[in-house]
Amino acid sequence: MPSIAFNNIVKKFGALTVIENLNLSIGDGDFLVLLGPSGCGKTTLLNLLAGLLEIDGGEILIGERDVSYLDPKDRGLAMVFQSYALYPTKTVRGNMNFGLSSRGITKAEAEQRIAWAAKLLQIEHLLDRKPSQLSGGQRQRVAIGRALVKQYGVCLFDEPLSNLDAKLRNEMRIEIKKLHNQLNNTVVYVTHDQIEAMTMATKIAVMNKGVIQQFGTPDEIYNEPANLFVADFVGSPAMNVLDCTVRRNGSGLVAVEDKGSAEINLGHYKWKGQAAEGGAVKVGFRAEELLTEERGDAGATIRFDCPVEYFEKSGADAFAFLTMSGKSIAVRVDGRDANRYRGRQSLPVYLPLDKLNVFDAPTGRRL
Ligand code: ATP
Repeated sequence: MPSIAFNNIVKKFGALTVIENLNLSIGDGDFLVLLGPSGCGKTTLLNLLAGLLEIDGGEILIGERDVSYLDPKDRGLAMVFQSYALYPTKTVRGNMNFGLSSRGITKAEAEQRIAWAAKLLQIEHLLDRKPSQLSGGQRQRVAIGRALVKQYGVCLFDEPLSNLDAKLRNEMRIEIKKLHNQLNNTVVYVTHDQIEAMTMATKIAVMNKGVIQQFGTPDEIYNEPANLFVADFVGSPAMNVLDCTVRRNGSGLVAVEDKGSAEINLGHYKWKGQAAEGGAVKVGFRAEELLTEERGDAGATIRFDCPVEYFEKSGADAFAFLTMSGKSIAVRVDGRDANRYRGRQSLPVYLPLDKLNVFDAPTGRRL
């Protein structure tokens, strides 16, 4: 299965530059998710790879081949669209068969491939139906089947689940990931749904305004966001942040909150960059890292007493939304304990000092 590289990619629409000097590469068998808000350039990048749009600069490699200016049909990739793009007058079989004979694939071979894909996707009983006789989820399976029968090493998905209801989305997400585990092909998948990104990807590229904000494994993106944009975009609820100023206290650095008086000891923090004394920083921490009881190891946590704004329970999880130093923050609590927290005016929470993220306030970069 081929690797993919985008080298110094530029794309303009008239005077508007939507991608400027983008570099990104993945290995064979990777499942790359392009993740970002609406309009950030995900689909544009996917379409450049597919050959549906032409680059204005740079090069695109699939394996060793420079495919930058090749016709879409010569790039050796299959694509699944958000709209499914099935031919309404053709049967499921006809849709899956389309384009195989023009590639010189014999009728017998085509039939074999269709039978293989139909079995894999459990749509064997639907082969003689037309798209109008299928549910949304079944249509999506057919669209995936049509991509699979091409048996290319690279498969592109453009928000393939966004037209499905929540239950079907979850089911199809698992199906697509199982298929990838089975076929081990190289996948590029566009979505703005972070659950899809976190659960399916081997690598995620978080994009904003045509620029890759961070490229890494789902764990790296979640646990060590490279900047405030990623910290805010990935994770639900978004990462909590407090506005602080860096000060020296004895031999170590502390972050002093701007609104409250708390000093957050930064002695446990693994610095990537350098904090300047007097520098404005944002100290971030996830809702699930905050504790409602003190941890045993002395000095490992710092206590805040926070007024409760709002309480929300959703199945096994519950979130308390509190005010900490004038900022709204979320704390995850066990849904089974919901009654312990409901109706409380104030809640003590403990911030573990080894679970912090520190960002430079002016640039947003992780320090
Ligand atoms: P979404 O999640 O909403 O699909 P996206 O991240 O896929 O968004 P793109 O569709 O790649 O974003 O669009 C990136 C930017 O390029 C947007 O500002 C969009 O308005 C612009 N754009 C996309 N296609 C064209 C076009 N054909 N002509 C002019 N501008 C375009």
